[in-house]
Amino acid sequence: MVLEVLEAAKWSLSQKHSDSFSSTDSGYVGYMKRLRYCDYLGKYFCDSCHKGCEAIIPARVLSNWDFGRYPVCQFSKQILESIWEKPLFKITDVAKKLYSQAKELQKFRELQEQLISIKKLLKACRLSKGVLDEFQQLPSHLSDELHLFAMDDLIKIKRGQLLTIAKAIMKSAVDHVEACQLCLANGFICEFCHGKDVLFPFQTDICTRCQECRACFHTSCFRNDACPKCIRIQNRRAARR
Ligand SMILES: [Zn+2]
Ligand SMILES: [Zn+2]
Ligand SMILES: [Zn+2]
Ligand SMILES: [Zn+2]
Repeated sequence: MVLEVLEAAKWSLSQKHSDSFSSTDSGYVGYMKRLRYCDYLGKYFCDSCHKGCEAIIPARVLSNWDFGRYPVCQFSKQILESIWEKPLFKITDVAKKLYSQAKELQKFRELQEQLISIKKLLKACRLSKGVLDEFQQLPSHLSDELHLFAMDDLIKIKRGQLLTIAKAIMKSAVDHVEACQLCLANGFICEFCHGKDVLFPFQTDICTRCQECRACFHTSCFRNDACPKCIRIQNRRAARR
């Protein structure tokens, strides 16, 4: 929605400027010499609208993971500054290939999946306030949903800053869960092998979740066609009939 508003603003501004001079104007040649290109709008501007500032261009980040600085007019500079920290970019909608292009982003997403999952677990625990507060080191949208980013997030992911913060939060969260009786009670025992370890959905590296009953199992044990819990549920239903 906000993006549409931005597009409309871009359009009306570029109309105003490109229509304001025609080749028959007497000052045209001198004017052309003073024109400056705005990479964000893809248009030329006079030197009172364009002071030669540079900015990172969202479209270039999203299409090429390119964080270079390009010349922008004053209007674009203002817009880009105002949206810098706003989570406006849903990667899966606007830049489908970005995860495969940007290793740092893919890596962050893997950790983010675990963070989102463990945060849900912590929210159900009345002893978790301290560790939940640590999540505030990240913008909240990053631990609430996948794929949604601000430009500020993307550059910090590129620099590795967010991964470092996310790792530290994840460590505190896991430390809490492993030591908390309330959280442990919300874990799963693998019903294939009946091992002693408690499994959680956030352990995406070792644990698989049944799509039907949402129970967790060791990935190495899990067989989709033979989920013990689903079979139990089916048997119970059959017995009731
Ligand atoms: Zn102008
Ligand atoms: Zn807990
Ligand atoms: Zn198992
Ligand atoms: Zn199941």
